[in-house]
Amino acid sequence: MKVALIAHDKKKEEMINFAKENENILSKVKLVATGTTGTRIMENTKLDIYRYKSGPLGGDQQIGAMIASHDIDMVIFFRDPLTSQPHEPDISALLRLCDVYKIPVATNIATANLVIRGIA
Ligand code: PGA
Repeated sequence: MKVALIAHDKKKEEMINFAKENENILSKVKLVATGTTGTRIMENTKLDIYRYKSGPLGGDQQIGAMIASHDIDMVIFFRDPLTSQPHEPDISALLRLCDVYKIPVATNIATANLVIRGIA
């Protein structure tokens, strides 16, 4: 089981709190993340996370490629819908691939809290 964690800047605190609250569950699966999200979570938990590039530098595309290779089982992506992102096309492409490959994807904390129970 491999889970990808991504959070836009204004959602990073929320992601850190989510990771702390679910550290037990998350420690049982393989974790990957975009660069800054992964760093921030590792600074605040004992989780071990493989970090791809930062989102604006291609991290979303790298994770998308993993999905296309059937190498990601779940995506938790705290999107900020109120701030324009420089890599909006990459974000749409990543979410599209989740639907193409039928990968569970949570784009906000309420959904994340539900889907995480699927790996408990
Ligand atoms: P970051 O990238 O974790 O490197 O900030 C996330 C994103 O913006 O998609």
